[in-house]
Amino acid sequence: MADRYLSFTGTAPGRFLTRRLGLPRPAPLRRWSAERPALDGELLHLTAGASRLDLAPVLARTGLPTDEAAGKPAAVVLDATGVRTVEDLDEVHAALHPVVRSVAESGRIVVLGAPLDSADHHQAAAQQALEGFTRSLGKETGGGRTVNLVRLTDASAAESTLRFLLSPKSAYVSGQVIAVGDEESPSPEDADRPLTGRTALVTGAARGIGEAVAAALARDGAEVVVLDVPQAEEDARRVAERIGGSVLLLDMTAADAGARIAEALPGGLDVLVHNAGITRDRRLVNMAKDRWSSVLDVNLGSVLRTTDALLEAGALRRDGRIVATASIAGIAGNAGQTNYGASKAGVTGFVRALAPRALAGHGVTVNAVAPGFIETKMTAAVPLFIREAGRRMNSLAQGGLPVDVAETTAWFAHPGSGAVNGQVVRVCGQSLLGA
Ligand code: NAD
Repeated sequence: MADRYLSFTGTAPGRFLTRRLGLPRPAPLRRWSAERPALDGELLHLTAGASRLDLAPVLARTGLPTDEAAGKPAAVVLDATGVRTVEDLDEVHAALHPVVRSVAESGRIVVLGAPLDSADHHQAAAQQALEGFTRSLGKETGGGRTVNLVRLTDASAAESTLRFLLSPKSAYVSGQVIAVGDEESPSPEDADRPLTGRTALVTGAARGIGEAVAAALARDGAEVVVLDVPQAEEDARRVAERIGGSVLLLDMTAADAGARIAEALPGGLDVLVHNAGITRDRRLVNMAKDRWSSVLDVNLGSVLRTTDALLEAGALRRDGRIVATASIAGIAGNAGQTNYGASKAGVTGFVRALAPRALAGHGVTVNAVAPGFIETKMTAAVPLFIREAGRRMNSLAQGGLPVDVAETTAWFAHPGSGAVNGQVVRVCGQSLLGA
């Protein structure tokens, strides 16, 4: 579904009118392509407080040239892990105030923070302050720029995360707080195809976001299984052919779905993406039982059942990745979506509780992507005015594309993301809903 307003605001009369009338001014986002895989420009590395991170070698591996005096940086990393007091916060202002105006369009600002120290309320206050700071700055920067906060203790464990956030792949991820642990993970042999030799299964991959996820994982080298319901066979085969994958026709609500997946993949599975989902909107007062239970079963019940079955069967290999699909509707709530909001909030509960156990017991990470307004058939069916509000009510003033969710999923699935666990990351352009 084309965003005509975004195209119009790129023209001379469009620019004039939006400025005069104070209308939202979305900037065309710079997304990843094989021809232009990196941001254009330099990376500026700043520090606030006394940091102990060994960050420079990791930043050097992101591929962006580091320049202490970059005039118009494509990316700024502010290492604020050493901020421990309110006074230290002055250094955050001192570091970013002079440069924030010069960050290039579609540029990146990444603030690095430390985990909150419950034994030191001054450190906890100063570090928590970074969240409000990051989210506020994200609402100010405009021009397709993103601002995110990463909490970490070990720079090399956060390499895949920094690479993602400092690349065009994270175009629609802004205002997020991501915690990265210190688990070591293997470096892939082929950096351009990090999933080589791995098998990924994507549910609901015959179209929309699932199709984009399947394509991104195949691009990264995975053998992809496109799973969808038997009624979607034609589309599923088209996707599989395009990406060089295979098809598994299966309704995920079937009681034996997990067993059938395990049977279809005797060699095991490395990446499991729970993307299949449905909406059956009605206000609760008008919602018949079947609308309630079908949404809860597809979006949540089947996710729990199949994950349990696959983990119990040992079908998910070590260093495996589970990525589930939540939604900002599960965070902010939506009128007419009590069923959907409940199911998607349930997904975040599932991810946060299972993540530490899955990692300890099976060496598998569990994360969720929470899309905001993404341009798909699902959102094309939304009435015009609600659709326009959904598109504009975020810091980037536009809807995301399926590929934005796919790139975030590919970052979770990356072999180097073993320290990213139990995270719910919104791909919503910093939606004002549920912020
Ligand atoms: P979509 O309707 O375009 O595609 C969903 C796919 O899932 C379809 O191919 C469908 O056949 C398949 N599917 C449905 N039930 C299934 C089942 N029981 N077993 C196997 N496959 C099944 O939806 P989309 O917009 O691409 O959304 C994908 C996911 O992202 C969903 O979980 C959705 O809730 C979530 N999401 C989407 C948006 C958005 O803006 N589009 C926002 C937030 C969350």
